[in-house]
Amino acid sequence: MNNADANQPPAFEGRNLFTIDAALQAAVAREGAPWARDRLTAWGERLGSSETFALASRANRFAPELHTHDRVGNRIDEIAFDPAWHELMTLAMREGEHCAPWQESRAGAQVARAAAYLLHAEVENGTQCPLTMTFAAVPVLRRHARAFAALTETWLPRSLSRDYDARSLPIAAKRSALFGMGMTERQGGSDVRANLTRAERAADGSYRLTGHKWFFSAPMSDAHLVLAQAAGGLSCFFLPRLLPDGVRNAVRIERLKDKLGNRSNASAEVVFEGAFAWLLGDEGRGVPVIIEMVQQTRLDCAIGSAGLIRGALAQALHHATYRRAFGRPLVEQPLMQNVLADLVLESEAATALVLRLARAFEADATERDTAFARLATPAVKYWVCKRAPAMLAEALEVFGGNGYVEESALPRMYREAPLNSIWEGAGNVMCLDVLRAARREPAAVEALLSELGTARGANAGLDAHVAALAAALRDPKLGESDGRRISARIATALAAALLVQHAPPAIGEAYCASRLDPAYAGAFGALSAGAGEATLRARGRAA
Ligand SMILES: Cc1cc2nc3c(=O)[nH]c(=O)nc-3n(C[C@H](O)[C@H](O)[C@H](O)COP(=O)(O)OP(=O)(O)OC[C@H]3O[C@@H](n4cnc5c(N)ncnc54)[C@H](O)[C@@H]3O)c2cc1C
Repeated sequence: MNNADANQPPAFEGRNLFTIDAALQAAVAREGAPWARDRLTAWGERLGSSETFALASRANRFAPELHTHDRVGNRIDEIAFDPAWHELMTLAMREGEHCAPWQESRAGAQVARAAAYLLHAEVENGTQCPLTMTFAAVPVLRRHARAFAALTETWLPRSLSRDYDARSLPIAAKRSALFGMGMTERQGGSDVRANLTRAERAADGSYRLTGHKWFFSAPMSDAHLVLAQAAGGLSCFFLPRLLPDGVRNAVRIERLKDKLGNRSNASAEVVFEGAFAWLLGDEGRGVPVIIEMVQQTRLDCAIGSAGLIRGALAQALHHATYRRAFGRPLVEQPLMQNVLADLVLESEAATALVLRLARAFEADATERDTAFARLATPAVKYWVCKRAPAMLAEALEVFGGNGYVEESALPRMYREAPLNSIWEGAGNVMCLDVLRAARREPAAVEALLSELGTARGANAGLDAHVAALAAALRDPKLGESDGRRISARIATALAAALLVQHAPPAIGEAYCASRLDPAYAGAFGALSAGAGEATLRARGRAA
């Protein structure tokens, strides 16, 4: 019996992930990176190949291992990865996911890179952790370039290199550098003020760190930016893995986390035993220094979740096109159409949101865009990351039993889905940040409302939603427990404003009619009669 007789769809591979995604192509052009089309087309082709899907599967099946000692008992603290991990890192670094906008600061560079990152997230996610952290560390390192001589001479040039180099060597002997971040300790991650790791200043101006980090991802990176308590208070430090003479820094890897998902990537618990570090910025200014890195990683969390959402949608559409039940393909069954259409809406919204937000991170962003990002970043990060697990569960169900077995990519994607919401500020923490910005930064509120104003008159439901949102944002009674409600309203208003202006009309209308309806229950597949058909027709049914 061949696959067709068995009613089993062909594998979802050998397709160009960029050119099959009309929403992403439109967003890239709209948000300022039409010049990136050829590059993204090539990247979409590479990522969608059967070879890349196989690498992604392999890198997650054969998870990294910690090797603490060599054969004669010396401490080595090395991580051994499957070759598939290294191949994926080679591809992504060649693409410049960790550095492109810092290398070529042309208009649209952040948007182009966001699209490349989103496409990558459709296929594999663990490799995106070191890429994101390296990308986000560079602006901090540039700002504090005078912290120590080797930073400008050796580290920064290597952070811009696209030539992946996994070797454990002193940085001067390497072709490129990767960075990580160490903030979370056992007693608290969201509240970093509770950090206990101590930093003692040495006679030469460097520091020695003593303490631990409870989550320390990508421990094989060449350096980490970490927080520790110095005499002047919580401070940010640059902690290299190896010292210039090749000796391992005094960072002991206790163990690797046994994680729900993100299994291709290593996340460690580490102990600092008088580890050598340089101070970045002033003592006591650790949070303001590292927050620039955190802000950029929050954008990536949202893009990563938008990629997961789109990847799951594309696979679900593909399956439903080929799989038949009760004499017809699933995609022709009215109730399945309703479900698929609803998933299309979620993906369109997520893609539009993250690409718009990426534009606000451009080097030439206006003051208004920067104010907009202050409020939109936590709101979009909260909402898109929060939608991913629900969306992934629904997409998985489109496959029936096949979605529940490991040979399909869906279980891996499903396990990955909650992570971006926890990382870099969990859901509630993001919503509290939204409230803080709303209360303290009137320019951010004005920028958001002015952005929403561009869609005025396009949809009556959206107009009413925005009017109520504007009143709520200025309501002095707005309290912490309202945080999730207001953040969701901001994100859905922004998504709706983008879709009614730029997506096919059926999509904008269906999004407003469902997501802005006070009676919206959250379950997928409950669009009103006709909206599902029209949504699918607007984008074509097949992936
Ligand atoms: C796979 C993985 C890799 C990671 N890698 C790294 C890394 O490389 N570097 C690093 O520094 N960290 C890393 N982390 C840690 C991550 O950033 C933290 O887990 C996260 O910031 C939350 O901190 P916590 O776990 O201590 O939870 P807590 O801070 O204890 O928070 C628990 C819950 O309480 C909520 N909460 C907190 N404060 C409030 C409040 N005031 N009001 C209402 N609710 C609140 C949070 O939203 C969360 O849901 C990683 C985590 C994971 C899962």
